[in-house]
Amino acid sequence: MVTFFPGPSRVYPTIKDYLIEAYESGIMSISHRSETFNQLSAETLGLLRQKLNIPADYTILYTSSATESWEIIPQSLLRQGGHHVYSGSFGEKWFQYAANIKPQSTGTTLGVNEILTLDHLETKAEMICLTQNETSNGTQINEQAIEHVRAAFPEKLIAYDVTSSIAGQALPFHLGDVWFGSVQKCFGLPAGLGLLVLSPRAVEIALDINDQTRYNSLPLMLQHIEKFQTSCTPNVLGIFLLNRVMRDFQGISTADAELKRRAAQYSQWLDNNPKFKPLVSEKSNRSQTVVAVEADAATITHVKQAAKESGLLLGSGYGKWKETTFRIANFPALQPDEVEALLRFLAHYG
Ligand SMILES: *Cc1c(COP(=O)(O)O)cnc(C)c1O
Repeated sequence: MVTFFPGPSRVYPTIKDYLIEAYESGIMSISHRSETFNQLSAETLGLLRQKLNIPADYTILYTSSATESWEIIPQSLLRQGGHHVYSGSFGEKWFQYAANIKPQSTGTTLGVNEILTLDHLETKAEMICLTQNETSNGTQINEQAIEHVRAAFPEKLIAYDVTSSIAGQALPFHLGDVWFGSVQKCFGLPAGLGLLVLSPRAVEIALDINDQTRYNSLPLMLQHIEKFQTSCTPNVLGIFLLNRVMRDFQGISTADAELKRRAAQYSQWLDNNPKFKPLVSEKSNRSQTVVAVEADAATITHVKQAAKESGLLLGSGYGKWKETTFRIANFPALQPDEVEALLRFLAHYG
């Protein structure tokens, strides 16, 4: 059975051997304050920077999940609150978590097929919070929009949830201040590890605010990462697997080009079949890494069942689109023959 769920998702087939290597090397029992850990962590952070094109002056931190970053940001980077614009469940949840911590946070909704404009971003807030890739409905804030937001707000911090696009899409890190995600989506790894990337200005503001109230307060995390370490015992196995997957990873431009090619194949099918339509008809909003396919509830149930019988697990709909969509992960760990099998199935089905 091949899973096309957009998280947790298909892991790289190499994970099996890397797990054995991890066990046999004893890495699972090392101290997170040891030189062995420091070396593993330093190499991993270096690989991430190099292979994902993260600017040299940006800081990369480990978290346990993207959800953790939803809390770290309001705790450690905001005095009053941020302004959230969201079209789906993940963006909405981020807003809710942030508002629990900083009640002055504000939020505006965006339609799935609505283009992000400066009107949505009209705010006095210190930070703009956007879900660059909204996994629940297969929309994205595209690079052109990211450029416009930076140009319109050179002074504000801009934060992007890139959980389901980081390592699958070339992201313009220099055009934002806070980028975060977790590894069970495009990294093709098991869940339990997240990443938080900060611009020099975000680091400066975190140190200025100097929140010291939590184990994951940024000043403490920043102090530890100087030595490639974390404030609590991290997911060392997860970091080891990330290290090995990043050693093999050909680089983000290669992965991005391949996923663009695959996304175009899915779009081609979506725009030319009688049974299904794209949830995201506005092509400039269409995600590169998550394809959302819409039909009536009965058709969705049927196609999921038929796919399953062919060994293909389609991702369920999410949130308010649960019954009337299915989702396809367009993630790098999906092997070419698996993607071809799905495209063949879809072409035959509808
Ligand atoms: C999956 C996902 C999350 C949650 O990730 P966790 O690692 O489970 O916390 C947050 N945002 C987006 C856009 C996601 O796709």
